Amino acid sequence: MATKNLIVFILVTGSCASFFFFMSKRIRWILKGTKENRFDHIGLRLKKVLVNVFGQKRLLKEKVAGVMHFFIFWGFIFITIGTIEILVNGIVPGFSLNFFPSFIYSTIKGFEDLFSLIVAIAILFALFRRLVIKPKRMADNPLSAKFDALLILSLIFGVVSTNLLLHAFEYQYVSQSITENRYGALFVLMPISYSISKLPFILNLSVEQLHFYKDFFWWAHVGIILSFLNYLPFSKHLHIMMALPNVFFNTLNSTGKIAKLNLEEEGVEKFGVGTLEDFSWKDLLDTYACTECGRCNVYCPTFNTGKDLKPKSLIADLRHHLYHEGKRLLNGTESTQKLIGGAISENTIWDCTTCGACQEACPVFIEHIPKIIDMRRHLVLMEGKMEPGMQEFFNNMENYSNPWGLPQNKRDAWTQELSFKVPVFSELSEPERKKIEYLYFVGCSGSYDERNQKTSRAFARLLNKAHVTFAILGKEEKCNGDPSRRLGNEYLAQSQIQEVSKTFQKYNIKKILTQCPHCFNTFKNEYPEFGSNYEVIHHTTFLNQLLEEEKLKIKKGLKEKITFHDSCYLGRHNQEYESPRAILKKIPDLELSEMPRRKENGFCCGAGGGRMWVEESRGHKRISVERLEEALETKTQKVAMACPYCMTMLEDATKVKQVEKEIQTLDVVEILDSVVG
Ligand code: SF4
Ligand code: SF4
Repeated sequence: MATKNLIVFILVTGSCASFFFFMSKRIRWILKGTKENRFDHIGLRLKKVLVNVFGQKRLLKEKVAGVMHFFIFWGFIFITIGTIEILVNGIVPGFSLNFFPSFIYSTIKGFEDLFSLIVAIAILFALFRRLVIKPKRMADNPLSAKFDALLILSLIFGVVSTNLLLHAFEYQYVSQSITENRYGALFVLMPISYSISKLPFILNLSVEQLHFYKDFFWWAHVGIILSFLNYLPFSKHLHIMMALPNVFFNTLNSTGKIAKLNLEEEGVEKFGVGTLEDFSWKDLLDTYACTECGRCNVYCPTFNTGKDLKPKSLIADLRHHLYHEGKRLLNGTESTQKLIGGAISENTIWDCTTCGACQEACPVFIEHIPKIIDMRRHLVLMEGKMEPGMQEFFNNMENYSNPWGLPQNKRDAWTQELSFKVPVFSELSEPERKKIEYLYFVGCSGSYDERNQKTSRAFARLLNKAHVTFAILGKEEKCNGDPSRRLGNEYLAQSQIQEVSKTFQKYNIKKILTQCPHCFNTFKNEYPEFGSNYEVIHHTTFLNQLLEEEKLKIKKGLKEKITFHDSCYLGRHNQEYESPRAILKKIPDLELSEMPRRKENGFCCGAGGGRMWVEESRGHKRISVERLEEALETKTQKVAMACPYCMTMLEDATKVKQVEKEIQTLDVVEILDSVVG
């Protein structure tokens, strides 16, 4: 082995060994997390990787940054293949990947060449964006993260530019001395390197000078590659390695589903997440995949209203905590930094509305909500710590099965103003019950809250008009457990789920209609884990069907401009964006004017995740006010919605802003009820 080959061999093996050493440490840290099976449905997972990693689907939602990243990603793949060839060739002279069929090899070389130029341009643009344009979503990155990004971008620029120059000098050198030629006639397919080689500053060099520069750029290229490799485990750009596995292992469930906590496991005395090792290995892997791009912050209601929770910082802080605690995880020594109240503040944990905007935006599919709920579970179940108002809420739920502590016998009081009798399961005979197709689960807000009772009555009227056979549970209806669960009280939530399931069983319920997206989400996505499976339909989906089937007919138009506010638990968590809009669009003369933040980018009202029942004391603005201001900008007379929580929040916001006369808040059902006649 010649001296050069030996040096390259030592450098490459040394660098790879150090890279694998640090990477194995990172992997061993995350394996200290709890077990979780994410190896099911391999086909579905691979499809997700194809679409979102190789297809870059989520990133391409943002035109400029998306296209730039798309080219950098694909360029990186081809350049990596070319680099492997260069490195092995440095150890084994004459080595080439030309053992591949010639069309494959020439395609690789052609793309490597072309992408080197495209990536160089993309990197220059990325540097310009960061240094001059300064995207808002990255503005709050700490100096270390900004330096890290600039260093990585510079290294990538170094890789592609030395690659092109190496090939250009090599071509000219080969043309003038036929001593070494790794690529043969391939240069024809490498137009960029070929064109550079024809530039006067190369063309006019002697063979010796060409040889010198060829070697110089070879060493520069290899040096930068090896430095890049060894810097990666310490950089937030570890996502280059971790994004793909993170997308592969992403949950296949609805983002609205909170996983069941096993409260009966023998010997388990710890619930929720109080230390790093209580997180699952996938939760910890998430932290490595984060590139601190800030997309999660853009639509986060708490970030936008100045609260303590910033989803990007939550994940970055967890990663820093993991790096800080890594040694302890492996050696079992004493912790020097607390997770809750140390790395992550309690306010951060409580602020979340579980709206899912962060998860929807994240290009590497990081799961923020489960981490937050698990830490809430620890605070409530292990430490008895709560936000003001939560204890009272839990007491009311325990004693009265509703958040206000109102008497159970008032549950069906909303029906009294109707001109017909709403059937109640307990009051029906067995043959009458058998004729009932749907349970209308009214929910706590629809049952007790005066404003939302109007929606319940409108829905019941429409069902009655369309001759739908339905009944309610009346005084037997109880809260389904959604808010208790999201506020971390899994004990209470599970007992509520069991109670409600038992009532459903008693009446052999198969199909459920809900007017509340939170009830809808819980029955649809969470009850199956407790052995309770139903067909669950949200009222807007159902009413749209009735209109399509002409079981309901619109009798008059509505000459009004209306905007629609998406509920997170109907839209983002369950992908029902169209039915409410389809109903509104069917009403003659009605003009639907959309808000900028809508559908998957919809902005939360601030009520989800149990926040409806806790005072919103942090931040510079109420989340509902921020949303209402957006609705007001559409200059519409009404803001329509399909959720009782959104109704309460936005109606309160009209009072806070004193615009009750300018804009009216209505459920889609109420609007439809007014035109059906
Ligand atoms: S969590 Fe996702 S969206 Fe947020 S900063 Fe990290 S990579 Fe970007
Ligand atoms: S779920 Fe919503 S409120 Fe919670 S961190 Fe994500 S975007 Fe913010």
